Amino acid sequence: MKKIAIIGGGVAGLSAGIYALKSGFACDIYEQHIFAGGQCTSWKRKGYHIDNCVHWLTGTNPATQMHQVWKELHVLGDDIPVIQNESFLHLESEGESLDLWQDTHRLRQDLLQLSPVDADAINEFVDQIEVYKGMDMPALKPVEQLSIKEFWQLLKKLRPIGKIHGKLSRISLQQYAKRFKHPLLQKMILAYMPHTYNVSSWLFVLGTFCSGNGALPKGGSEGITHRMIDQFLALGGTIHTRKKAVAFTYGKKCISGVTFSDGTTATADYYIAACDTAVTFKQLLHPKYIDKFFKEHYSNKQAHPVYSSFNTYLAVDADTSFLGDTTWFDCYPYWAVGRVQKNILLKNFASEPGFSPAGKNLLQTLLVQYEDDFERWEDLYLRYPEKYKEEKARLAQQIVERLETQFPVFKGKIEVIETVSPYSFYRFCGAYKGSYMSFILTPYAPKKSHKGRIKGLSNLYLSGQWLQPPGGLPNAAVTGRFTIQRLCKSEGIPFNQG
Ligand SMILES: Cc1cc2nc3c(=O)[nH]c(=O)nc-3n(C[C@H](O)[C@H](O)[C@H](O)COP(=O)(O)OP(=O)(O)OC[C@H]3O[C@@H](n4cnc5c(N)ncnc54)[C@H](O)[C@@H]3O)c2cc1C
Repeated sequence: MKKIAIIGGGVAGLSAGIYALKSGFACDIYEQHIFAGGQCTSWKRKGYHIDNCVHWLTGTNPATQMHQVWKELHVLGDDIPVIQNESFLHLESEGESLDLWQDTHRLRQDLLQLSPVDADAINEFVDQIEVYKGMDMPALKPVEQLSIKEFWQLLKKLRPIGKIHGKLSRISLQQYAKRFKHPLLQKMILAYMPHTYNVSSWLFVLGTFCSGNGALPKGGSEGITHRMIDQFLALGGTIHTRKKAVAFTYGKKCISGVTFSDGTTATADYYIAACDTAVTFKQLLHPKYIDKFFKEHYSNKQAHPVYSSFNTYLAVDADTSFLGDTTWFDCYPYWAVGRVQKNILLKNFASEPGFSPAGKNLLQTLLVQYEDDFERWEDLYLRYPEKYKEEKARLAQQIVERLETQFPVFKGKIEVIETVSPYSFYRFCGAYKGSYMSFILTPYAPKKSHKGRIKGLSNLYLSGQWLQPPGGLPNAAVTGRFTIQRLCKSEGIPFNQG
């Protein structure tokens, strides 16, 4: 039986591990942390369950390819309930509000009522969402393994979106927002994602949500990773925690082993680097192995920027169920590591009562942070650790004050404040510039995926969200699956999805 060593126990590493075991390989995962799961993680704080990751999961619609993958990984299934919210995002600004409803008829009516002068732009926007509702993310086979028939079927399926995607992928959210006259409609376009994203990405999110394909599995991030870990272990895999890989060693045009920070080594027939690709290229491999795709993506920052966020978790001794799942509101300005902020994005965990003690609730705010913000957090952490802590506490306090102004019912009711800076994502997972998604899809470069092979190293494969921008849980899981399909092909054995 051939053996695979996987570096990194995030969703991509676990996915690769599960499919490897199903296809008849022996498999060990080496994870630097004390547990597997990567960015899709959670922890306990003073009786609260802090969920670090999932806000929506592409693949909850049973008719989609991604749903099949999640079922095979036991992330979704008939026994796992999902939470389908009516509204993706509720916005409040200058005494007005709107919701991005799942029901596109209701969405159209509400937007037209809010701003009749924007009728043309609104109708076009909602029509575009209708088209993106038909998107079924290809998830079952790497493109080079599709038969001619499957390839044509895929093209046929994508044709309606393809007709408008070309144009919309060359328009940034900032440009698209200008089509609307009403300021709240402009904010609706800009509120959720970094402004440099192309509008096709935002329509993909909304189309996914509106087609029932972007709901939330009950149990959140912990549920997702624990079910994957359980399946990997039940299939006979081994997870070695506290194993930080520091270098690969080389044989003749192949990898001969991996060395860990504790001085131990491991050998296998195949190696899968499922850690952040910046760790793979900048720490584990000789610099000569970085290829054109990653050279271009790491150096052309206008075409391929990345982002992170500053998150606060607020435990509230109050009922938060009057809030929808996600709320965005304008507020009076505040500073975050040198940048002025004027709004707050708020996630409500009321749909998961198990995350808080009885009668209490958990909220989360997310503040988008760019590469230069990350560098400021990094500088503070490394050079002025006390100031780093002070800045996190000061910023959280600013956010709390604005939250209490917007929702006076929370005044004096916030019991626990937990903060996560972009630098935390780097420290805990090695995330490139603190980014927990992949490269932003901008109007300045077409979307490209990486095949996960490195020229000159026959037994090394890559998996992980960075191979398929814009990343996220589905892309992480799919790259794990694709890796094992490619590996099975090169071994001449059948791929078993189980
Ligand atoms: C706040 C937040 C919200 C998010 N919301 C969503 C959402 O709503 N929907 C969605 O789809 N996605 C969301 N994501 C993104 C999602 O979590 C990631 O896309 C996904 O988890 C990435 O998985 P991965 O396996 O590719 O990488 P990672 O999770 O980064 O896994 C890599 C693993 O490799 C390990 N590692 C790194 N270096 C080494 C080394 N040298 N040796 C050994 N191990 C190593 C790391 O510790 C980690 O466990 C969110 C993420 C965050 C943080």
